[in-house]
Amino acid sequence: MSQLPARNIAVFGATGSIGASALDVIARHPGNLRATVLAAGSKVDALLALCRVHRPLHAVIADASQFAALRDGLREAGLDTQPHAGDEALIELAAGDDCDTVVAAIVGAAGLSSTLAAAKAGKRLLLANKESLVLAGELLMQAAHASGAVIVPIDSEHNAIFQCLPQAQSGGLSDAPTHAGLRRIVLTASGGPFRGRVRAQLADVTPEQAIAHPKWSMGPKISVDSATLMNKGLEVIEAHHLFGVSRERIDVVVHPQSLVHSLVEFVDGSTLAQLGLPDMRTALAVGFAWPQRIDSGVAGLDLLQHGRLDFEAPDLDAFPCLRLAFDALKAGGTAPAMLNAANEVAVSAFLQRRIAFLSIPALVEATLDALPASAADSLDVLREADAAARRHAMAAVG
Ligand code: NAD
Ligand code: MG
Repeated sequence: MSQLPARNIAVFGATGSIGASALDVIARHPGNLRATVLAAGSKVDALLALCRVHRPLHAVIADASQFAALRDGLREAGLDTQPHAGDEALIELAAGDDCDTVVAAIVGAAGLSSTLAAAKAGKRLLLANKESLVLAGELLMQAAHASGAVIVPIDSEHNAIFQCLPQAQSGGLSDAPTHAGLRRIVLTASGGPFRGRVRAQLADVTPEQAIAHPKWSMGPKISVDSATLMNKGLEVIEAHHLFGVSRERIDVVVHPQSLVHSLVEFVDGSTLAQLGLPDMRTALAVGFAWPQRIDSGVAGLDLLQHGRLDFEAPDLDAFPCLRLAFDALKAGGTAPAMLNAANEVAVSAFLQRRIAFLSIPALVEATLDALPASAADSLDVLREADAAARRHAMAAVG
């Protein structure tokens, strides 16, 4: 086996759940993998703690009011790490020479500009920030294609499909828009904490119940998205862009054990799947090493211990967000961007106990009904659609 290339890695969203998993894998390979840039939103103490361990060249705090705390904390710790603040710093560092690999793990549309900068600069892009693909998938994939950036999806389902598609294996996804012989892809969904409940049983669920995911430990926003099935809806749109597959050829099946991470079906009747324990370090190790394999810290799968694999259809009456996402993909243009923006507002309001769980799909649907989709031919148009949907949804929250 040829040697694993050395990688200088920027971890955007370092203080989050994916960030922690990425840094865990990086720390297992000190000879090859180095975290050179660490970035966080506003948790400056958590960022400083990571800097003390990983000693990056640069640390970025998005919230500019925290810059002095970052600068002083780095100095007190005796570190040479350069402090930065704001989105512009992220964009510059994503494109700059101090990293060749970017883990895009900021949550929400806030991650778009740095993700796009990494794609334009031709970096190896470990893409966890699915909202940027939902918002501007075509532009992001075009940018990666033009620069030769290798995108490795860091979503368990898409990482599974990446591993099962031979075209993806030859060198990333940016040059593999179509796949000969592919019949359909099947995304698996855990069903979230409320699987099996009917709609009426969802009326008064709390944020605590919604973020208590049965199989995955994740940040609060994606945990709520998993509970509404909007996460799977965003993933359908994500898969469409990553793999160049039309919506008619993307199916969703609920698989409560979360061991089969997704499947690819070919015209000859073959179905390939990727299985493993539900731990994002596997996907991240694939991202860092592909086409090689490295230790991720995740144990192998003992099928006898788990015993069975169950599959069932998603309940679109109880969980309409999945249908709303398919509809937005069909409408095209600015509709997915507005779906995502309205959902971000609704999830945030739900986490703040300002709206009920069932108001999340209601708010998204009302926003999409009120604001008709238009052609999405530029980033400005998409950003304006995102802003308009946020304004509309925020006004509805009150
Ligand atoms: P999280 O809430 O745990 O972490 C989010 C990170 O983003 C934090 O480091 C935070 O400081 C940073 N951040 C927030 N706003 C920011 C801003 N404006 N500028 C810069 N940084 C900002 O979230 P997570 O669960 O790690 O998810 C991150 C992304 O990965 C999401 O897009 C999510 O959908 C995707 N994802 C996560 C998982 C998972 O297992 N957690 C799986 C698949 C995909
Ligand atoms: Mg996923």
